[in-house]
Amino acid sequence: MKRIALVTSGGDAPGMNAAINATVRNAFAAGMEAFGVRKGYEGLIENDIVPMTLADVEDVIELGGTLLGTARCKRFEQEGARRQGIKNLKHHGIEGLVVIGGNGSQRGAYGLHQLGFPVVGVASTVDNDLYGSDISIGCDTALNTIIESIDRIRTTAESHRRVFLIEVMGRHFGYLAMMAGLASGAEIVITPEYEMDPPEVLDELRRFHRNGRDYALVIVTDGAKNNVAGIHEYLSRSVAYSEFEMRVTMLGHVQRGGAPSTYDRSLAAQLATGAVELLERDDPGKLVGWKQGTLAYTPYEEVVSKKKELDSQLWMLSRRLVEINY
Ligand code: ADP
Repeated sequence: MKRIALVTSGGDAPGMNAAINATVRNAFAAGMEAFGVRKGYEGLIENDIVPMTLADVEDVIELGGTLLGTARCKRFEQEGARRQGIKNLKHHGIEGLVVIGGNGSQRGAYGLHQLGFPVVGVASTVDNDLYGSDISIGCDTALNTIIESIDRIRTTAESHRRVFLIEVMGRHFGYLAMMAGLASGAEIVITPEYEMDPPEVLDELRRFHRNGRDYALVIVTDGAKNNVAGIHEYLSRSVAYSEFEMRVTMLGHVQRGGAPSTYDRSLAAQLATGAVELLERDDPGKLVGWKQGTLAYTPYEEVVSKKKELDSQLWMLSRRLVEINY
């Protein structure tokens, strides 16, 4: 291949710029030209595709977000839109595409692959819900942000003897909540995989209380059926103010921002290098991820048909370490 393009799509993740940097540099090192697609799949359909130089990726490794911009683009789910994207790529003489993004973005990439265009994926999402990668770009930084916030919340919760309901990202995958629970020792963690309805939460809080814990942290995944709003509403109705006071903290988009951690920069460099190598070898149609300490190449058919599972051992461990006290 002589010309490749790259696109960042879906939710932004710290480390996307490091992945762009490594993709462009590897392309140049392999004697290829690199093009950037702006604003995700929206830019692909709208032919917002620009040549990239080494100067474009100078001093970007340490920056959060994505210099190419990103977007959610509903119409990309239609075959006609994807065909238009391929037409635009071909118009520039581009022969392969690197898609840096999460679950939805890789489904879009699979759609291009099915239409015969050479695509490779780079696993990048703070939610870490992509099948084919133990860990994805952005997740480590997001967790560090979450933990720093929870540590701060704990000191005020303890001082005021309050219950804090803390919402974290993750959508339908409870990885961020589980790991935040493990790393912070939060009393209760609720995820789509391990739901707890509001009366159960109340029972648990009362049990902690009876056993001498006069404050508590409850971490809830934003995509859980029993969400923060529902739990807060129920508890507000069911407990007297004197029993325990409550506060809600939605960590929100702060989890996506900020400079990427060392781990995410290094992961981004390695996954993007693997992606360019696949295109060089003319071996597309795969997601490049990280499994058991090394690069993993998973065919798109598998990525889109299989569901990533939470590590139940790690979940049990996280809960057991808290239960020991109560
Ligand atoms: P992420 O990639 O972070 O998981 P989204 O789930 O929002 O983010 O997906 C990003 C974009 O990927 C969507 O806006 C859409 O353009 C594209 N996409 C998602 N699902 C599909 C699909 N089934 N077919 C084609 N494109 C899709």
